[in-house]
Amino acid sequence: MEAVPGNETATPNWHALPAEAALAAVDGRAEGLSTAEALARRVRFGPNAVRPPAQRSALLRFLAQFHNVLIYVLLAAGLVTAALGDWIDATVIVAVVVINAAIGFIQEGRAEKALQAIRGLLSEQAVVLRDGRRQVVPAADLVPGDIVFLQSGDKVPADLRLLQVRSLQVQEAALTGESVPVQKTALPVPAEVPLGDRASLAFSGTLVTYGQGAGVVVATGDATEIGRIGRLLGETDDLTTPLLRQMADFSHKLAFLILAVAVLIFMVGHLGWKLPLQEMFSAAVALAVAAIPEGLPAVMTITLAIGVQRMARRNAIVRRLPAVETLGSVSVICSDKTGTLTRNEMMVESVATAMGLFEVSGEGYSPEGEIVPPAEAPPAAARRLLADVALGAVLCNESGLRRTRTGWQVDGDPMEGALLVLAHKAGIDADAAHRFHPRDDVIPFESEHRFMATLHHDHTGRRFLYVKGAPERIVAMCAREHGPEGDVPIDPARWQAELSAIARRGQRVLGLARKEMPPTTTMLAFADVEAGGCTLLCLFGIVDPPRREALAAVAACREAGIRVKMITGDHPDTALAIARQFRLENTDVALTGGDLDALDRAGFARAAAEVDVFARTTPEHKLRLVEALQAQGRIVAMTGDGVNDAPALKRADIGVAMGRRGTEAAKEAAQMVLVDDNFASIAHAVEEGRVVHDNLKKALLFFLGTNAAQALTITVAILFGWHLPITAAQILWVNLVTAITLGLALAFEVAEADVMRRPPRPAGEPLVGPLLAWRIALFGGLALLATLLVFELARRHGELTLARTMAVNTLVACEILFLFNVRRRSAAALSAEALKGLGPALASSGLIVLLQLVFTYWSPLGGLFGTVPLTARQWLPILLCALAMFVVIELEKLILRRWSGGVGRGHVTGRHGAPAGP
Ligand code: ATP
Repeated sequence: MEAVPGNETATPNWHALPAEAALAAVDGRAEGLSTAEALARRVRFGPNAVRPPAQRSALLRFLAQFHNVLIYVLLAAGLVTAALGDWIDATVIVAVVVINAAIGFIQEGRAEKALQAIRGLLSEQAVVLRDGRRQVVPAADLVPGDIVFLQSGDKVPADLRLLQVRSLQVQEAALTGESVPVQKTALPVPAEVPLGDRASLAFSGTLVTYGQGAGVVVATGDATEIGRIGRLLGETDDLTTPLLRQMADFSHKLAFLILAVAVLIFMVGHLGWKLPLQEMFSAAVALAVAAIPEGLPAVMTITLAIGVQRMARRNAIVRRLPAVETLGSVSVICSDKTGTLTRNEMMVESVATAMGLFEVSGEGYSPEGEIVPPAEAPPAAARRLLADVALGAVLCNESGLRRTRTGWQVDGDPMEGALLVLAHKAGIDADAAHRFHPRDDVIPFESEHRFMATLHHDHTGRRFLYVKGAPERIVAMCAREHGPEGDVPIDPARWQAELSAIARRGQRVLGLARKEMPPTTTMLAFADVEAGGCTLLCLFGIVDPPRREALAAVAACREAGIRVKMITGDHPDTALAIARQFRLENTDVALTGGDLDALDRAGFARAAAEVDVFARTTPEHKLRLVEALQAQGRIVAMTGDGVNDAPALKRADIGVAMGRRGTEAAKEAAQMVLVDDNFASIAHAVEEGRVVHDNLKKALLFFLGTNAAQALTITVAILFGWHLPITAAQILWVNLVTAITLGLALAFEVAEADVMRRPPRPAGEPLVGPLLAWRIALFGGLALLATLLVFELARRHGELTLARTMAVNTLVACEILFLFNVRRRSAAALSAEALKGLGPALASSGLIVLLQLVFTYWSPLGGLFGTVPLTARQWLPILLCALAMFVVIELEKLILRRWSGGVGRGHVTGRHGAPAGP
């Protein structure tokens, strides 16, 4: 039969076919395809990727820029102004809207592209059988006929007809919406059953929650079930976050407030001061336009996108945009130990046996090194014992060791790799060991049961199992221990003491045991190991050194007021020893999962808050710890890698999955994925999150401050019945040139020196807090004062047009200098530190200076806006007044720094006396 898997109409009912028939139908073989064949099929069937849904068209994206209440108000104002024949004002208003939309469109487009590129970094992989061996290939390279292996935590990479299963369970919510996992089988099922009951198929995009399996690819890319329903795998986040939504809400209220003030001003001017209707109308419109922070939403989106890019550059990939904001207020990080805090490059350093302690030398995975037997042991007996230990270490092992150009490399679990290295040092040939003792069955390692067992036979037909795992579990399974004179009854107390001694040195402890099995046994059951009767061979002491960057990052977190907790599956003594190296806050006690289970609710809550080391935990404890910490108002980041970590990752404020070690299930549940599995990357992401938040607040302060100043100049003049110091058209110009360009610079600001020296921002802080409101008012007031002062001075010596030209330039000069004030939330604007990342601010202010010169000296514009050229002397008061404003704001920061440094108040004060900024 010639099947065409890519073609829907000819697709057979794969689920109803026997496994062999399905394999034959896609022209597959039990030993897998050859690489050449796979390449040829790849050309024929195309990549295994679901075509993304059509993007919004450019026009739609451009139009979306206008979908904002503030812009509606502006457009309405423009329309009315045009209807009244005031073409200059109408043109400027429309220009503001269009330029703003264009900048938003371009920048948001770039932001979206950047986000997409970042998502592309999380490409998926699949384990396939090609050229007769297991290989890891990009999931996109799968073709019909490939044989794919699945294990718990994997995302199914294509539609598979299952050939073999071992307790395989798959959660198919992505396809059917059903979140309860489905038991799979390799047997055919009736043709007519619905999708959810096609138990012999594993569908692309679904998650393996338990067990293992292998299947042949029957459909890839758009031909898969998920491809057919046209849903993109993974998330398609839009550019929105709680803060942006809060901002939109704020915009609504602001728009109403501005309209109310404009109407009030109109009434006061027209009815109170009897000013002409048209003049009053254009003043009211100008007031409204000047007050609206139209550039703010785009700048906020861009700030977030830049944050995401910076995080990606520092190895933290944000999968959901709101995480960028939340990261800034994280107050507790719950981290795994192995691989996140430590390097996950393991080496066996000691082997505790019934004969005494063997010490192992060497470095990393290089098999050069020596094993020194206990001094008192007879050499021949020691060699025999070591050979028995090494054989078990090799056979009960899933990893591989190979030499590469750069050195020795482990494929698989690093701890198992360390056991292979040990066996090598003991002189055991791993390939020969496997050849002479073929494996019949395996119980794979799972964190829940903390052991792994394998069943073997030799040429005489003897069958035996090896089991390795958490030492307390292994010792409990053993009735005897393997000594120099054969097996003797075990002395559990002595082994307990050995275990503690090794663990207290910070080494991981792993037990290894062996059990003779009846020759008829062909399958392993949990009861075979758990029933006991095993013989203990040894306890391995394995070092896993801390990551240097993680040591520094934990220290940085401490300084940033973030509590780091270690939640590990390892032994409590090992965990405590490592916690001490990291100088976690509380290293007096480690609580185990068992200890936690014995606590009542209040006790659990107290433990969650006070204890920093949790050992021998299960993923369920992680979930309970997150919940307890959140109930106490903490913002929790939690790491995880296993399929069972998903609930805790989902529940945490920031779920962090490991990019290398993590399962697809964990990545799917997480908000952030670490490319390098390194704790330091979490700390960097937190830092970038804080920078994003700072920049958002800075943009808010700048926009609201400058808009307030612009609006005030008109409002105050009309309220008091003065000449307008700046005409309606001029204020529109100021708004046009400053708001969009200057504010944008703040999105690109880099971290301030104290960003990781202050405590986390309290969650749920209002968008505009008291300090921010005060600073908006302060700048608004000062800029108004400066503008009025220059205007009045000029009026005394000259005519109205000159005074207005000077007033406009004063206002713009104030706004430019204010940008430099705002760049540093509490530190001085003029300092060596403030030179960092000065580029964008300098560039945008340079641009404004240029525009102002054109505005002032280019007569066509002068004609339109009613300006006249200024002499050098006339610039003096302008610059002096703007400078005075700048100095006053810097003084305010200085006073606040001194004050908060002196008072040292809770969250307002950083360690270095820096007050929390706006
Ligand atoms: P963390 O949670 O910090 O990553 P961990 O790696 O020690 O720590 P688990 O992977 O849950 O956590 O391992 C728990 C225990 O199970 C280990 O301390 C070890 O004793 C045992 N163990 C780990 N991997 C294996 C394995 N491949 N085979 C047998 N036992 C293992």
